[in-house]
This record gives sequence, structure tokens and C-alpha cells, in this order.
Amino acid sequence: MSFSALGLNDFILRALADAGYRLPTPVQQQAVPAALAGRDLLVSSRTGSGKTAAFMLPSLHRLAEPARREARGPRILVLTPTRELARQVADAAQKYGRHLRHAKVVSIVGGDAYPVQNRMLASRYEILVATPGRLIDQVESGRIDFSRLDVLVLDEADRMLDMGFIEDIETIVARLPRERQTLLFSATLDGRIARLAGGMLNDPQRIEIAPPPAHEAQIEQRLLVADGLTHKNQLLDRILRETDLRQAIVFTATKRDADALAGDLEQVGFAAAALHGDMKQSQRNRTLEHLRRGRLRVLVATDVAARGLDVQGISHVINFDLPKSVEDYVHRIGRTGRAGQTGVAISLVGRNDYHQVKAIERYTRQSIPVHTIPGLEPKSVLARPAPRKAGQGKGGRDWHNSRPAPRVRAR
Ligand code: ADP
Ligand code: MG
Repeated sequence: MSFSALGLNDFILRALADAGYRLPTPVQQQAVPAALAGRDLLVSSRTGSGKTAAFMLPSLHRLAEPARREARGPRILVLTPTRELARQVADAAQKYGRHLRHAKVVSIVGGDAYPVQNRMLASRYEILVATPGRLIDQVESGRIDFSRLDVLVLDEADRMLDMGFIEDIETIVARLPRERQTLLFSATLDGRIARLAGGMLNDPQRIEIAPPPAHEAQIEQRLLVADGLTHKNQLLDRILRETDLRQAIVFTATKRDADALAGDLEQVGFAAAALHGDMKQSQRNRTLEHLRRGRLRVLVATDVAARGLDVQGISHVINFDLPKSVEDYVHRIGRTGRAGQTGVAISLVGRNDYHQVKAIERYTRQSIPVHTIPGLEPKSVLARPAPRKAGQGKGGRDWHNSRPAPRVRAR
């Protein structure tokens, strides 16, 4: 099925051709015609499956029709959990809407200067991409007129709930015209999403795209067992020198660890930088730009900062620390294998990570093979821990927290 068969107008088809898109992805094949027909949608599809275009294309299509009334505010509002994602969605809107006459994009995220945002909001624009927190401020200051809004999109709704945005979202939605189209996209549709959707969507059509087995094969997952922090650093160093590694994201548990590890990697000669929520927005943007342009080879990031990142050069995702949840694991490894490319996801685990690894394997319904690197074989094995004896404390996780410097062996 081609894009033109989906019912999109020529302006959009031209932009897709410019972007080099030849065929719609499965979620686009289903969601675009349903959205064009005017239905509210509840859509789940894995990361990297092309959800942005699935909601943006039919929404942009509506912009060719005159607005329902004369007003200045947005016709399309997209809410996203993080600033990085907002930027990505705004860029996509610009790309797909480049041949449309009236498709100006404004993005409102925390960390940007208010005067600049206020000026943008006073201009004429059609598409507003925002994170809920900052948007609330602007809504309450009365700077946004929603009276001509056609479409509300909730992107990565599961993540917005995880991040505690539910009340902000409800406050914003209460200010929107009731007569509108609402498109909710999420990596998963669980009970929480259903409850959120219940109040905001009108008789939604549910579209669930099962992950094709072929996709999983596109991201090769591996476990490497580490005896302790020194060993972990040696393994990381070796992985980062693999010749098939183009760019990598290394995930750490904390912002401090991200900074420290990025610094250590830089010191031994890797083009590395950190990305986390304590950095200024301008810094985060610059780091991402360097990553996109290939000036960085290694990004050391925390979960929130890297959520939704779409950088095609990422060949490897490395979990220096395992994530706190299985959902985060899936989101992390989804940073590689973008747009049909192959990727490698390597988790560095200690013997005490057994239960977390099993939980991930259950969740993804895949077992993750244990690999070894010649010369760096571990002494420990990943095995079910013996039952803990009373008074023994939490048991051997100490290496996880201790941080002798430098983290990467200097040569
Ligand atoms: P998701 O939101 O589902 O995680 P994205 O919308 O970020 O996925 O898309 C992932 C990547 O795939 C992006 O780089 C995007 O440009 C690309 N892409 C999306 N749709 C197509 C398509 N039909 N053909 C080729 N590339 C596509
Ligand atoms: Mg997305």
C-alpha cells in the first residue's frame, strides 16, 4: 500500500517523497485512514515504528481545509513527555508540512526563555507542540486561544503518566473545545491509559500493532556479566572500540554517574558527552545536535533524557546499569535499530541482577543470550541467588554503588 492510497493530499505526498519515505509503516497504514475519517484513535505500536507520521500526516491534511473559525491559536496541539521529544515532533511537523501554505509550528517546552515563547505565541501559527508543565503556565497566563483547535494528540501517553503529568493533561484538556479529534499514541495500552482515554476520547477506534518478530531480530540483545565496576569499565571500553559501532548511547542509573562516566570516557579519548535533566536546555540541544552531526560517538544518558530519541546513527545501546523498569528497558533498546536499521543492545549485569534480567525476558518474551569478550571473561555467573539468610542485609550489591575513579581504565 502506498502513501497516496491512504488519502493524503499532494502537498503532503510531496513532502514524504522529499523525506525519502516510500511506503507507510503498519501503524501508518492503519492510523492514517482512520484519522482522516475523523475518528478518535487509541493506538499502540512499538518505538521506532513511525508513530509521529501516523498522527502528524492526517492532522496536517486537515490544515488544507479552512479553520472552523477565525482565531490565532493552534489547530493542532501535540503533548509530549519531554523536551527532546517535543523538538523531534516539531521538526517532523515542519518536514511533513513544508509544502503546506499554513503549517507553522511553535514548540513550548520548559527551559526556554519566556519572552521568546511569548513572542512565538503572539504570532500566527497552526501547530503547537508542548510539554504539559510549561504549557500549563502559558495556558493560565491566557496566551493561547484554543477556539479553533481541530486535533489534540497525546504522544507517548504512557510515559506522560509515568512522569506524573496526568493532572496537567487534564487541566489542559478541560480548556480545549469539546468538538475536536483526539489521537492518543502509546507504546503500550494498559488500564491506566484506558482510564485516561475514557475522559478524553470519544468512542475511539483502537489500533494495536503487534511487534513483528522481524523487528526483534533487528535489535540484537546481549548480556555481558561483569564481576564489579572495574570489570564493567573494561567491558565498556572494549565494546566502544568495536569496529561496527557507529554511535552508542550508554545508560546510567543516575545523572551524576552520567556526568562522571562521560568525563572519564572523554579523558581516554572517546568523543563522549552526557545528557540528563539537570543540564540547561541549550546544553541539551547542543549535545543532541553534536550527536546528530556525528561529532559525538558516545552519549551517556539517563532514562528521561533519552526517551523517544531518534538518531539514526545509534548502532549500540549499552546498559551500564539496568533500568528501574522493564518498560524502560524496552524504551532504551528502541533507541537503536531505527528506521529499519539493525542495532545491538548490550546490558552489563552483575550476578545480583538475575531477577531483573528474568523480568525483562518475561516481559519481552525473549531470552537474552549471555556473551563474553575474549580476555575479559567474568569469574561470576548470572544465576538465581541463594535465599538470603536473616541479618545478611541486602546482599552484595555494593559494587553497584561504589565508584572508584577513573571508571575507564587509562592506557
Ligand atoms: P515512534 O514514534 O514510533 O518511536 P518515529 O515516528 O520517531 O517512531 O519514527 C522512527 C523513524 O522512522 C524516524 O526516523 C522516521 O523519520 C522514520 N520513518 C517513519 N515513517 C517512515 C516511513 N514510512 N518510511 C521511512 N522512514 C520512516
Ligand atoms: Mg514517538
